[in-house]
Amino acid sequence: MAYDSNNIFAKILRGEIPNQTVYEDEHVLAFRDIRPQAKAHVLLIPKGPYESFEDFSARASDAEIVAFTRAVAKVSRLAGIDVTGYRAIANTGADGHQEVPHFHLHLLGGQRLGRMVS
Ligand code: IMP
Repeated sequence: MAYDSNNIFAKILRGEIPNQTVYEDEHVLAFRDIRPQAKAHVLLIPKGPYESFEDFSARASDAEIVAFTRAVAKVSRLAGIDVTGYRAIANTGADGHQEVPHFHLHLLGGQRLGRMVS
């Protein structure tokens, strides 16, 4: 499926919609989720046009994948959840309830989470 450049995270990346940035570098942007599902809820996205985790892992460059992976720890520190712990989730596709078709990793923390997310 072709990447939809009108999705909301593409608009955020183009600066058309404001966001509460937590971290940004050449390859990634991390910002607060607009409807937080935990006391701390940050979304980490690659700047490249990747629809899903599947798409990102298949098509992103090594530099993009390294930058994204390293950014997780940076964002967890900036969000204040590195010591207490957090959950990282990438909803993928229809069964995974992925709503925004631009790959994003949810980082949830700041409180004791339940055992599983449904
Ligand atoms: P998904 O279900 O994994 O695709 O999650 C999409 C997430 O994006 C949801 O948690 C939404 O609350 C969040 N979201 C949607 N629009 C915005 C926005 O404009 N700013 C920040 N987060 C958003």
